[in-house]
Amino acid sequence: MSKKEQKMIQCCSRFRGEKFALVDKNGLYNRYLEVGICPICQKQIAVLVGRRFLDNKLVFEKKEKRKAINLYNECMSEVTYNIRNIKYGTKSNAGFYFGENRIVKVGENLVIKRYRVDFNNTKELIEENKL
Ligand SMILES: [Zn+2]
Repeated sequence: MSKKEQKMIQCCSRFRGEKFALVDKNGLYNRYLEVGICPICQKQIAVLVGRRFLDNKLVFEKKEKRKAINLYNECMSEVTYNIRNIKYGTKSNAGFYFGENRIVKVGENLVIKRYRVDFNNTKELIEENKL
């Protein structure tokens, strides 16, 4: 893979998403989908990338929010393999999750709460520890 194809998702800043390799389709090869939630604005972003058979040109398609989720759901039937799990993410049949840590004050104590967040922004508390 060339450097160009390693591109990360661009929203408020550049960030890494989770990449899925996809089957050749619509005259495109080396297709992949990169999805993630922007760490700054919390928008779901999906980027579909492929190279055109015709002229080897790299083609991008970027979707946000509900459209990004739709694109992700559409592409799941075309996945050949998961290229890389994001650093704190875990893969499951229900999709993939992001880790999110929040520090909150409970009485006099600071508590770190670890949440599991999926691409549809569903949050689940998985761990709670006193600092
Ligand atoms: Zn953003």
